[in-house]
Amino acid sequence: MPKQEPKVRAHNFDEVAIGYGEEQALEEAARCLNCPKPQCVTCCPVELDIPGFIKLIKEKKYDEAARKVKEKNSLPAICGRVCPQEEQCQKLCILCKIGEPTAIGRLERFAADYEQEKGVETPPLPTPTGKKVAVIGAGPAGLTVAADLTKLGHEVVIFEALHVPGGVLVYGIPEFRLPKRIVKAEVEYIEKLGVKIQPDALIGRLHTIEDLFKKGFDAIFIGTGAGLPQFLRIPGENLGGIYSANEFLIRINLMKAYLFPEYDTPIRIGKKVAVIGGGNVAMDSARSALRLGADEVWIVYRRSREELPARAEEIENAEEEGIKFQFLTNPIRFIGDEHGWVKGMECIRMELGEPDASGRRRPVPIKGSEFVMDVDTAVVAVGRTPNPIIQSTTKGLETTKWGTIIADEKTGQTSIEGVFAGGDIVTGEATVISAMGAGKRAARSIHEYLMKKR
Ligand SMILES: Cc1cc2nc3c(=O)[nH]c(=O)nc-3n(C[C@H](O)[C@H](O)[C@H](O)COP(=O)(O)OP(=O)(O)OC[C@H]3O[C@@H](n4cnc5c(N)ncnc54)[C@H](O)[C@@H]3O)c2cc1C
Repeated sequence: MPKQEPKVRAHNFDEVAIGYGEEQALEEAARCLNCPKPQCVTCCPVELDIPGFIKLIKEKKYDEAARKVKEKNSLPAICGRVCPQEEQCQKLCILCKIGEPTAIGRLERFAADYEQEKGVETPPLPTPTGKKVAVIGAGPAGLTVAADLTKLGHEVVIFEALHVPGGVLVYGIPEFRLPKRIVKAEVEYIEKLGVKIQPDALIGRLHTIEDLFKKGFDAIFIGTGAGLPQFLRIPGENLGGIYSANEFLIRINLMKAYLFPEYDTPIRIGKKVAVIGGGNVAMDSARSALRLGADEVWIVYRRSREELPARAEEIENAEEEGIKFQFLTNPIRFIGDEHGWVKGMECIRMELGEPDASGRRRPVPIKGSEFVMDVDTAVVAVGRTPNPIIQSTTKGLETTKWGTIIADEKTGQTSIEGVFAGGDIVTGEATVISAMGAGKRAARSIHEYLMKKR
């Protein structure tokens, strides 16, 4: 994949990966063996016909390739950019036995971008069923369930708390990985299908679930994600200059600090930034801090490089751009200056012990290994949990001790009849494609439920 040079891209917010040109796409598509029993499709949560669309690219039928992808996936330009393909479809590609798998995600992106440039067409829709569905949250789960239900003839309204739809795709993932215009175009496609999106509508406050049924909705899908940041709970964490990754990225993305001076959103970057955590959120925070002018950015992670949960490609990109890593290190307190701003972070070295509940080896502190890192900004990216607003205002909605909604894995059915849920609000923070897969499965069972209700 052609990319911007690391030294150049470390100072701008333009997309890092430039995308395949036609020649490269054809060359890559030609590597697909078109297996009689393709394994790649078996672990795609949205059931994409992977060999089918790659074959159409091989035949230079790019429009048809895009349409084939869209049969199953309403957000292909997004998935082609941010899906962890190396852990899913590409992992099972037969070519892995002899070398590199077919770059399925990059080909998906090629087909989707081609279609976006030419102008997107919507498929013909069936006769309206007269049934109405409310979808809460316009992230990948909500957008997918809405698109699929509309294609089945139902009327769908999405209620979104923020002023723009997209969820994490717009407020979390930065422009240099997923340009806002790409998300906007895919949301516009879903609106063109007939889905209505009502922004600035915080369900649990504006309306309750009960209100939505009273307003005439026949079924409800909750796809409100996991947007509540977790903290380290160590001394000094409330000093100035310490952000949750959520706040840091929302200021940069949604409030457009990355477009300074056009937007003058306040954000403190400082010279030495420490980002605590090792997932995609940590990588995005670190790389954003670098682009906004930090001299030195450290990822501080309590396990080793092998356990980093971020996408392999993004770890590589971060390393190339000059992000530094402190592995097997955990902060134990923040140190403030006389004005209440962070000036240091005391850490302890860790070693890996026995595997914990997650199956990864548990990090154990090494006694006497404490040391202080000079930092003037810190970003805490150690996980996110669901916001409890709907759970706490909906009688009879069963939840786990972590606040996630209990829903059937196959159908999305919750403890309340006619109420379905999926995505991060059910699984806890996961991936775009797993949220979309949940949306897809829920759409099928909501359709079944509505048709039986007739
Ligand atoms: C910075 C960052 C980087 C990431 N990078 C990747 C990546 O590279 N690849 C990947 O696969 N995954 C990545 N993820 C994870 C992925 O984005 C999420 O798993 C996915 O977005 C979950 O989708 P969702 O629809 O369940 O929730 P969300 O995307 O969180 O969307 C939920 C929506 O519901 C709205 N909402 C919440 N409460 C209410 C309410 N009460 N009323 C109305 N609306 C409400 C929210 O405003 C939001 O728009 C990343 C996450 C973050 C934070």
